[in-house]
Amino acid sequence: MKSQQISKSDNYILEHCVDKLARINNSDYALGFLVDGDSSPYLINVDSQTVSAPELLFEPIKNKLNKDLIDYFSDKPCLLKDLFCYEGHESDYDDLLNNEYIDNLRYIPIGEGSELYAIVILINIELSVRSKDLIDVTPFLLATITLLKNKKRATKMLPIKARNDLTSKKFQDQGQKILDSMLKNTFHPAFLFNDEFQVLKSNLAAHRLFNSNLERGWPVMDKLINSTLPGIAFRLLTSISKMSFLGHLDKQQWQNVTLVLNSYQSVTVDIHLFDIVYFGRQCFGLMINEKTEVDVNHEVYNASLQRFNALTSVVPMAILQMDKDFNCSYVNKTWAKYTNQNTQQSLGKGWLSSIKTLDTDEILSEVIRAISHSNSFKGEIELTTVAGQGLWVSMNAVGLFNDRFELTGLILTMSDISDERSNSQKLQKMANYDHLTGLSNRAFFTDRLTLALARVPRHGITALMFLDLDRFKNINDTLGHHVGDIVIQEVAERLKSVVRDEDSIARLGGDEFAIIFTDITAENVVALIANKIVSAINLPFTIEGKVMALSCSIGVSIATEHNVSPIDILRKADLALYKAKDLGRNQFCFYDPILEKDLSLLHYLTDDLNHPQKSGFFFVFQPLMNASNGSVMGFEVLARWSNSEMGMIGPDIFIKTMEENGLIQDFSEWLFYEVILQVKLWVSEGLLVAPQKVAINLSVKQLHLIEFADSVLALFKKEKIDPSWFTLEVTETAFIQDPAIAGQNLRALKKAGFLIALDDFGTGYSSLGLLRQMPLNYIKIDRSFIQDILQDSEAEKIVLAIISLGQMLDLGLIAEGVEDIETKEWLVAQGCICHQGYYFHKPLLINRASELLKTHQNIEFLPNL
Ligand code: C2E
Ligand code: CA
Ligand code: CA
Repeated sequence: MKSQQISKSDNYILEHCVDKLARINNSDYALGFLVDGDSSPYLINVDSQTVSAPELLFEPIKNKLNKDLIDYFSDKPCLLKDLFCYEGHESDYDDLLNNEYIDNLRYIPIGEGSELYAIVILINIELSVRSKDLIDVTPFLLATITLLKNKKRATKMLPIKARNDLTSKKFQDQGQKILDSMLKNTFHPAFLFNDEFQVLKSNLAAHRLFNSNLERGWPVMDKLINSTLPGIAFRLLTSISKMSFLGHLDKQQWQNVTLVLNSYQSVTVDIHLFDIVYFGRQCFGLMINEKTEVDVNHEVYNASLQRFNALTSVVPMAILQMDKDFNCSYVNKTWAKYTNQNTQQSLGKGWLSSIKTLDTDEILSEVIRAISHSNSFKGEIELTTVAGQGLWVSMNAVGLFNDRFELTGLILTMSDISDERSNSQKLQKMANYDHLTGLSNRAFFTDRLTLALARVPRHGITALMFLDLDRFKNINDTLGHHVGDIVIQEVAERLKSVVRDEDSIARLGGDEFAIIFTDITAENVVALIANKIVSAINLPFTIEGKVMALSCSIGVSIATEHNVSPIDILRKADLALYKAKDLGRNQFCFYDPILEKDLSLLHYLTDDLNHPQKSGFFFVFQPLMNASNGSVMGFEVLARWSNSEMGMIGPDIFIKTMEENGLIQDFSEWLFYEVILQVKLWVSEGLLVAPQKVAINLSVKQLHLIEFADSVLALFKKEKIDPSWFTLEVTETAFIQDPAIAGQNLRALKKAGFLIALDDFGTGYSSLGLLRQMPLNYIKIDRSFIQDILQDSEAEKIVLAIISLGQMLDLGLIAEGVEDIETKEWLVAQGCICHQGYYFHKPLLINRASELLKTHQNIEFLPNL
């Protein structure tokens, strides 16, 4: 016999199946064919009894089978269609039946549904054997099917049908949707699970029956079946195993079985088990039909109720049960302890009167929202306690649902968190508040500012105010820090009294405060408040019996819709504050884009000062003239600075910027050095002759440096130049702010040979006392008076007074800003002959100054002043 053999082990089950079938049917011959939809049948086995059968027998059978298979796969009627069908006399089979060896034959297709995996052909069976007699063979047949099916899947990956049916995916998806929607809408609890017993899908009814939380997953299905359906668990699980092994099984049902929900609740149900293809995978469905209401085992129930009561009375937690409209039906003892409300008072809506939290309605609707979303709520609320005080509790709520999964009620639990809260409040207070004033600190302020700015696009104007006390350092230095602290506290109180409750005040550190104003209707409202604050701080402070006057400077920046970056707003308020200080303190100033210029100015100034050649900086010399004979008495050195970006900037501006930013000392050292070189040159050339002087302006900041005089003298010593060639110009401010150090510096300098001139006299305090104390040689009458003397009798009187004061105190007089001949004549007539002004000369570049010195060589000098 020529047969295509496949290894015995590969087809062990099919061979046994053929054997078994042959024996049961008592056939003469049995043949097994493997079928593949694409190729002709493939003989894998002949029954042992057929070993002697002639080849003649097989050929016609194979041919016939081939034809039948083609018909079968093209859906034409054929013998294969009927399982176990015996056809002995049909013409179609005449050829076969005419064969001397064949009396009858039976096809036994091995497959499932429309899938065909193998065919067993039995020849010459006993006709008395009926289909029902074959029942014993069924397990073999099914096992064979499963094996062949798996083999086919393994080799072809997909069943034949799925492989060539592209439209089936669409139908499958649609089917899936229908299935999902059916599950969702049925009142019968249902589960879909896979052969690993993992639940793939369950419906609301299932969750309701098992009182499960939707967030929590299901246990594996075999576990669930074992614990809830103990009566049929074994049979049910066996059926499922069989199903998964065999690939399919008819629907299975168990009626009136007990489903155990928990230790005291059970329900009678019908169970339907079915197989189903879910997303291309063989799965199982379990549907439960509840026949009775939940049975309550009263004995077990009572026991559990007692347990419940015992527990609820001892737990340190208030427990309340209520319907979905918050009508309370149960409270435990802890609730009464917390609130001093007894059960009777708490029932219905009574319990709500113990909720201290203001927005109760909002919280309750939040509870409902959370429950319907995730069946749990967690929050913190305040209760009214026995003494009418507040008690903070953390509140949890879970929902209770009916059959249709509608919310019917709630269980609330509350536990005391007042300790926790007060600790965390303390910590929060420490982290967020300034301990001295109780105002917000910088960290908290930044948070608030960010929040306030986020509101800007929807709400009114938000303004940020920076406030800095003027000369607060003096208070700390002279009266001590404890007085400083009291002042700060008093300032905080005054600020609170001026601003609205909703405005937030913060102490940023030292004597700096910030205030955020939200929902402001107009900018001028902020200006009004700023004004009020300035006045409030101006009111006298009485501390430890001492009365003192204080002032503050304020910078304001306004946040607009297009400008809500916290960093930007802070910077702008800071710039405005600087401006307010600049303008003379004790005032407020709004941010203005012009202020930005100051910033770039600082940037460029710093760059240039760091440059070895101090690029951009230079100086000019303005002659001081003897107005009566036209001789040059000396020069005042005036600094200049120009920058390619910013153009020429006046010294009034850049000197101040350097002073404020600690750059003045660097600059001054450079200037001194350069001027010394120039003076040395002039002296060596014989251009500068005693008693001519070169005047250099000193900054207030320099005079306040203890080592200032020493450093100047060291430089002069090093450069070997006599200080008596120089005049130093100082302003009164230096003496007002720090008379001790300024006086010390000046005395040392004067002693070394420098002359000292008091600049801008008349604009400041013009204090006679100071004039006496200070080591001065000259007074420079400020040009604002000089320029007005001919038009303004007041200015005239002032200048006359200054002149007589100078004469009285034996001080030389220099008139600044003489611009015309009339002014010059008037001053000379009053005895003031040293003039500086455009009438004679504007400030001159070095070579022009040198020229001037040359041309005036022969002029007779005035006596030394
Ligand atoms: P200042 O010390 O009062 O200098 C005199 C100012 O009056 C100069 O302005 C000068 O150009 C100007 N001036 C002189 N005569 C006339 C006149 O007839 N009419 C008018 N309208 N103005 C006249 P400048 O150069 O702008 O200097 C301004 C201020 O800058 C100076 O005032 C001084 O306080 C400060 N400064 C200039 N250079 C230096 C310096 O090197 N160091 C320091 N610390 N300050 C300086
Ligand atoms: Ca000057
Ligand atoms: Ca001056």
